[in-house]
Amino acid sequence: MGRVGLGVAAACAAATCAIAAVLVARRASARARWRRAVALLREFGEGCATPPARLRQVVDAMVVEMHAGLASDGGSKLKMLLTFVDALPTGNEEGIYYAIDLGGTNFRALRVEVGAGSVVTSRKVELPIPEEFTKGTIEELFSFVALALKDFVEREDGKDEQKALGFTFSFPVRQTSVSSGSLIRWTKGFSIENAVGKDVAQCLNEALAGSGLNVRVTALVNDTVGTLALGHYHDEDTVAAVIIGAGTNACYIERTDAIIKCQGLLTNSGGMVVNMEWGNFWSSHLPRTPYDISLDDETQNRNDQGFEKMISGIYLGEIARLVLHRMALESDVFGDAADNLSIPFTLSTPLLAAIREDDSPDLSEVRKILQEHLKIPDTRLKTRRLVVKVCDIVTRRAARLAAAGIVGILKKLGRDGSGVASSGRMRGQPRRTVVAIEGGLYQGYPVFREYLDEALVEIMGEEVARTVALRVTEDGSGVGAALLAAVHSSNRQQGSI
Ligand code: ADP
Ligand code: MG
Repeated sequence: MGRVGLGVAAACAAATCAIAAVLVARRASARARWRRAVALLREFGEGCATPPARLRQVVDAMVVEMHAGLASDGGSKLKMLLTFVDALPTGNEEGIYYAIDLGGTNFRALRVEVGAGSVVTSRKVELPIPEEFTKGTIEELFSFVALALKDFVEREDGKDEQKALGFTFSFPVRQTSVSSGSLIRWTKGFSIENAVGKDVAQCLNEALAGSGLNVRVTALVNDTVGTLALGHYHDEDTVAAVIIGAGTNACYIERTDAIIKCQGLLTNSGGMVVNMEWGNFWSSHLPRTPYDISLDDETQNRNDQGFEKMISGIYLGEIARLVLHRMALESDVFGDAADNLSIPFTLSTPLLAAIREDDSPDLSEVRKILQEHLKIPDTRLKTRRLVVKVCDIVTRRAARLAAAGIVGILKKLGRDGSGVASSGRMRGQPRRTVVAIEGGLYQGYPVFREYLDEALVEIMGEEVARTVALRVTEDGSGVGAALLAAVHSSNRQQGSI
């Protein structure tokens, strides 16, 4: 080989080395970026950890806050609102009643016929609430509601029928009676300014009268109370109700003498349903991550509804999106798609659920969702596995915290098997307890339900958990409100608690 040949060979060798070095460096940096994504996942998982000991701390904090909220107004972030519902339907109700269910994603109007101890028929119409009505004026929202109800009533029963209406309005309301109460503040993305402080039942009655409809509100309740009413109608061991849908909340039957902030409160039954507004529960034991803080910053009700923001349907997809966005920025697992992940609320909770529940070997459903909804093409299988893991962590924490909340109520009632009721009374064998439950997230997402059940067993032990039944009440928030309208209408029918 001549000199020239040697030179060329040397140059080729040098170039090959350089290319190899570049490839090695690239691979090393790709590995480092992948490791960064995995590290972010690990950190997120650790931040969301809910071992049983921590859940028990949340249970105890819930009980403490329940006591504080019952002791004085403003005593706790848990409002523990009086509902004036001291009688629940018993099965003796008869007649035709209407209900409106307003308070989240959809608006529902229901017609319920009851008699002979059962709900004879129940029909409904369901419409999404147009976004503009959640931010306009209360008159606009309620005339939309009144017109939709009018349409429905006239189709079902004709024009002149006078009917009692149960109004399920699922926002915090300071009740002044079972059929009146003023809005304390909006939650779940609603922000109609001229409504706070107004009597929402009166506003709706005005809209109903304005539309020429012969229907008046006889029970103003919240979705938890409607759910409890239907649950109790079917099963007298039902003592509490929980909603896990767009938002989350719970109510339960409390002894009136335990409602210290309302001394002298007398009811025929000696009890009253208390609307906890548990979405606003807060405790330092809750596992809060930087992503929860970012989510809170994005919302209109910053620093409020902390429990809800870790549990409910409006928020879970968004928490996962925030984690994926950070991964996209700090690693290359999503290629150039970081921008597509930067748009708030593009990953809905039903999509998060579909990702978590994809059991195909190549996670084809996950690939499809990433492509179609987040505009992330061409993901590797290991990246899709990472995405599933993120959705799993978000789901598991939410379900387990909801379980801790439920056990908090059971503990307050002395039904969690921990030995001593919060009143100090010793307990015997745990009684059978039913918790009515409703909401699109709980009903539509089996993995969520599995995680919740698992946590109930971990917190209370298998034996006690066996005495607690979570019972889904289909359309309970609406049908239950119609039953309460029956109990509280002018031909008042005897209820019990
Ligand atoms: P609301 O009565 O407040 O309108 P729903 O109880 O109907 O709410 O629940 C709707 C919410 O439930 C949606 O906002 C969505 O986040 C969640 N959801 C509905 N279906 C599913 C599903 N299949 N998987 C997970 N979440 C779901
Ligand atoms: Mg609802």
